[in-house]
Amino acid sequence: MAKRDYYEVLGVNRDASEEDIKKAYRKLAMKWHPDRNPDNPKAEEHFKEAKEAYEVLTDAHKRSAYDQFGHAGVDAGAAAGAGAGFGGAGFGDIFSDIFGEIFGGARGGRSSVFRGADLRYNLEIALEQAAHGFETKIRIPTLAECAICHGTGAKPGTQPQTCTTCRGAGQVRVSQGPFSIAQTCPRCHGSGKMIAHPCTACGGAGRVKHQKTLQVKVPAGVDEGDRVRLSGEGEAGVNGGPPGDLYVQVHLKPHPVFQRDHDDLHCEMPVSFAAAALGGDIEIPTLDGSARIKVPAETQSGKTFRLRGKGIKGVRSHLPGDLFCHVVVETPVNLTPRQRELLQEFETISLRDSARHNPRAKGWLDMVKEFFEG
Ligand SMILES: [Zn+2]
Ligand SMILES: [Zn+2]
Repeated sequence: MAKRDYYEVLGVNRDASEEDIKKAYRKLAMKWHPDRNPDNPKAEEHFKEAKEAYEVLTDAHKRSAYDQFGHAGVDAGAAAGAGAGFGGAGFGDIFSDIFGEIFGGARGGRSSVFRGADLRYNLEIALEQAAHGFETKIRIPTLAECAICHGTGAKPGTQPQTCTTCRGAGQVRVSQGPFSIAQTCPRCHGSGKMIAHPCTACGGAGRVKHQKTLQVKVPAGVDEGDRVRLSGEGEAGVNGGPPGDLYVQVHLKPHPVFQRDHDDLHCEMPVSFAAAALGGDIEIPTLDGSARIKVPAETQSGKTFRLRGKGIKGVRSHLPGDLFCHVVVETPVNLTPRQRELLQEFETISLRDSARHNPRAKGWLDMVKEFFEG
């Protein structure tokens, strides 16, 4: 069968963004997912076709190879060193990637063998940890295979029996007029098995609640909302299905000095009004130790200094971002009589030629005067 054009399969333009491609794929996958079309053998074909197109067009290398050479550029085996072709791959992986949360991972092959649910764990970390990467242990509650019955749900020494109503299929066909509809077996609830003597440890469920400790490696550069996927660490599957995945979602704690904006950092830099006027070196903190900024004489509030490369190198970035220091000139407080005296004298001298020493204040005052006088 000649392959259709990937863009045509997904119904998107050749310049479609990754987001558009994802959207288009999601729609098609929902429509053609085999679980939703049990009686349509074409559905799986459509599903696989859409999945293949999606995988190629969301991979920058494969997409450019496809744009240049067509299917020959990306077919399994054609790409040098490419380990994974599409042919034999099921739809489990990519499906759980983007649908895990929607479907709860409920991808059953037949009867009611279900993949375990995906779990999410919220991990709060400091900005420094996000910037440099770190490892930690987390404890999560999960459903694990029962150790007593090894997931069968039957008391040790006994075996689950094949359900006599559905003969193990998990589904029964019910005739309604001209149609025959498959329904979950009412007796075994889809498992295809009957348990005469349930395991006492798990009550026949085959799974038990359990706390497990996991090592999580957070890569350097993660940002708010990024997820680290721990494959197979979600809930145990039902009736021998594969386990779900655990997604560790990163949240950044507020930092006392820095605000993060993607790969860039921003901080406020308070400068005394004398230092702002006279200029000088000011020591500022960065995520890797301190740095010095040469503040020129007559620096105004609001001026921004940019330190290239002193931001964060994001997980997907090639270069670190920058650090922006925003000057805030601080009005002195808690003045001593001597300080007041000096400032008074300073102001008296300044007022003799305010247009020269305080041009903004002078200009503003003139404008106000004009406004009121007319
Ligand atoms: Zn058990
Ligand atoms: Zn049954």
